[in-house]
Amino acid sequence: MYIGRFAPTPSGDLHYGSLVTAIASFLDAKKFGGKWLLKIDDLDKQRVRKGSIESILKTLECLHLFWDSTETYQSHRLEAYEFYFKKLLETRKTYHCNCSRKFLSENAKLGESGYIYPGFCRNKVLGNSTINACATRLIVDDLPIFIDDQIQGKLSQNLSKEIGDFVIKRNDQQFSYQFSVCIDNKLDKITNIVRGADLLSSTPRQVYLLNLLNFDIPEFSHVPIANIGKKKISKSDDYKVSINGNQKAIWMKVLKFLNQPISKNTSEMKLDEIIKYAIKNWEISEVSPLNSIEIS
Ligand code: GLU
Repeated sequence: MYIGRFAPTPSGDLHYGSLVTAIASFLDAKKFGGKWLLKIDDLDKQRVRKGSIESILKTLECLHLFWDSTETYQSHRLEAYEFYFKKLLETRKTYHCNCSRKFLSENAKLGESGYIYPGFCRNKVLGNSTINACATRLIVDDLPIFIDDQIQGKLSQNLSKEIGDFVIKRNDQQFSYQFSVCIDNKLDKITNIVRGADLLSSTPRQVYLLNLLNFDIPEFSHVPIANIGKKKISKSDDYKVSINGNQKAIWMKVLKFLNQPISKNTSEMKLDEIIKYAIKNWEISEVSPLNSIEIS
């Protein structure tokens, strides 16, 4: 059975860009008679803003984006993360790293997704007293990882050359996004991930982790991110979407962004009729394979 999800970080109110992802993942799940789950990515406490969880839930409900099952929270899953983290330690492909940002900026090459980590600490022996202030990295292979994205098409990435050994637990001992998201997929039995193209370059790392843990690989679809001018909209921008009373207009704007057909007489239609029409006519192949699109 199809199980999809929307996984917002509660770092602010949902903005137009996050609504594009929410609606695309919702439509894809509903088109295939699947479930659409809501997972709150609240692991990184520094990014969580007070009141944003309530605001996200309210916005989704207001747009009739009703999720199946109770929403889940990453912050409630620490035991599961610890369990699978130990499994990764058993693979003997992990090591502690005490490289500072400054050291990396002076010694590592900058790639498209940050510094490419060439394994400075792979063979370092670090004393027990320092280990609690170290990150844990995962050794990657010098082989391409292939992705067949439903929107962006076929792509490959050589983790060793383009990313390097990557962090699964940060030096503040918090599990990294790359790691936690893979465990979430397993726990929620996710079969399809529809999300923003800003996460496309994270996907090979996640596929690598999923393979190491012997988990199923979901189908990936990355929708273009919404830009204002040349810049991605972020939650810190003052680009607020006022939802109340604008539900139909927001749905229509998002459908247009996703290049989906819009019924002719929407002014007479109720919101649920517009949504029903959108589900029936949803074609993921119509979504632009661009990385980002400027919103009008
Ligand atoms: N929480 C991430 C975000 O808000 C999305 C994670 C994902 O879809 O894998 O950008």
